[in-house]
This record gives sequence, C-alpha cells and structure tokens, in this order.
Amino acid sequence: DSENSNQQTELKIVLIGASGVGKTSIVERFVKNFFNEKQRKTIGSTFLSKVCVVNEKSYYLNIWDTAGEERFHSLVKLYYRDTNIAILCFDITKQSSFRDLDHWYQELQNSAPRNVILMIVGNKTDLEEEREVQEKEIKDWALNRNCSYIETSAKTGSNINNLFENVCKIFSEKF
Ligand code: GDP
Ligand code: MG
Repeated sequence: DSENSNQQTELKIVLIGASGVGKTSIVERFVKNFFNEKQRKTIGSTFLSKVCVVNEKSYYLNIWDTAGEERFHSLVKLYYRDTNIAILCFDITKQSSFRDLDHWYQELQNSAPRNVILMIVGNKTDLEEEREVQEKEIKDWALNRNCSYIETSAKTGSNINNLFENVCKIFSEKF
C-alpha cells in the first residue's frame, strides 16, 4: 500500500568465492562504476552501501566483500549473521574456482541463516575465449542446490546491475 511504498528494505548481501575471481571488482563496478586492472587484495572484510530501486521498491543494500582467507575463519559466524543474500562467485576461466563453490556452499550451510537467498556468479565473461567452465555444469550445480545463476564482467560492466536487481527481485518474491 501507499504507506509502505516509501519504506526502504535493508538487505545484507555477502560476496564469497576464491581469491582473484573478482568479488571486489564486482562491488566496485556496481557501487562506484569503476574498474581497476590491478585491484588490491582485500584484507579482512569491508562493506559498501548502495540504494537499488526495483519495481518502484527501494532497497538499501549493505554489500559485504571478503578476502575469504582461512585465518579469518574465526569470524565466519559473525560475517554471515543476518545475511539475506549470498553471492557465490567464481571465474569462468578457472575451473578450480568453480570447484571451490562446494566449499563455500558448505560454509553457508553451516553458518548462514537457513532462509538465505543464493546466487551464483560466473565472472570475467569478457574472457570468453579462455572459458574453462561450461554453462551446462554450472546450471546443473545451481539447479541441484536451488541457486540462481548469472554471468558478469566487472571489467565491461556486463550484467553487474542485473545481478543486484535480480537478487532484490528474488528477495521480494520470497518475502
Ligand atoms: P577478489 O580477490 O575476488 O576480490 O578479486 P579482485 O576483484 O581483486 O580481482 C582479481 C583480478 O581480476 C584483478 O586483477 C581484477 O582487475 C581482475 N578482474 C576482476 N573482474 C574481472 C573481469 O570481469 N574481467 C577481467 N578480465 N578481469 C577481472
Ligand atoms: Mg577482494
């Protein structure tokens, strides 16, 4: 109704995935519309906020980015607390980063809220000619775990806005 249409829904989004897949670059492209060829390594975790409007509804996104290093694992439970959406990232040119999704998925099962929305992101589509992970295996993996899937390029900006709009849409359909 009209009273609620002015309200903003606040969502906590966490990005996870192997080092180097482009997590920080995806967030910077989305929030600052910026790409850095020599992205610095993320230390610990940080978050950036941005308002996203989807279907006339306004979402206040707190987007958490992590280094995902083992030595920060004592903080894992805190990191995932109250998470609404987890974005599991891999690099389409690196099979090992796709295999790592099993680890991240397991960690979510152990530490994230049960109703968390899962989105898989295959990043670096600008490097299509170096692709190592085929769409069929990604779709099968996602389907078996009730995850949505999208491919992006932080470098060109392809699908970056769609990624965040889609997770807002999925959230609004579910809750
Ligand atoms: P993170 O460790 O997951 O946060 O990954 P970074 O965002 O630090 O990115 C790792 C490297 O990949 C950096 O050199 C980025 O410039 C590069 N990179 C990130 N996204 C893309 C992309 O979409 N395409 C290409 N070609 N390189 C990317
Ligand atoms: Mg990073």
